[in-house]
Amino acid sequence: MGASTIAANVSTMIDAESIAKRVRELGEQITRDYASSSLVLVCVLKGSFIFTADLARAIDLPLRVEFLGVRSYGEGTKSSGVVQITHDLSRPIEGEDILIVEDIVDTGLTIAHLLELLKTRKPASVKVCSLLHKPARTRVVVPIDYLGFTIEDKFVVGYGLDWAERYRNLPFIGLVESSS
Ligand code: 5GP
Repeated sequence: MGASTIAANVSTMIDAESIAKRVRELGEQITRDYASSSLVLVCVLKGSFIFTADLARAIDLPLRVEFLGVRSYGEGTKSSGVVQITHDLSRPIEGEDILIVEDIVDTGLTIAHLLELLKTRKPASVKVCSLLHKPARTRVVVPIDYLGFTIEDKFVVGYGLDWAERYRNLPFIGLVESSS
């Protein structure tokens, strides 16, 4: 096999094996915590689609998966603080146990907004599972009930996360080198 084309100018921050191991651990923890209930994973699009796909398979419980489209960033890398719903859940969630699955909590504004929105729909519970957290940029403190990795204040791509819609299909989390 030749060298990867898409990864050519990306340095690895968290490799695929470490992600897989952590996702398995999170799945086991969630399986234990929700043992007696029926769970709804709310995948926050687009960045969480790969994480949700892997996490769902690491949870040994009956569950359903819903998708919530959210736009909080433009094509740049700065949070606007404005969260727009671009795709809503397909069914009501009243009385259900909701686990919001996020790719990354950065300022916290997106999750804070989603928690408020989903609570108005009267679920039995709402918790948050995020693959990544960048505490250095916190503007609102939000509970992260299940966390994959804490990272430093760098813009990361891969494993679902994009830069202007690119790099989502990288199998690892990395940093784009500015030189190419
Ligand atoms: P927050 O509202 O917490 O500031 O931002 C959450 C959203 O911003 C994430 O779901 C993600 O879409 C985007 N985001 C924040 N940091 C990064 C990053 O380092 N890389 C990428 N690709 N997206 C990020």
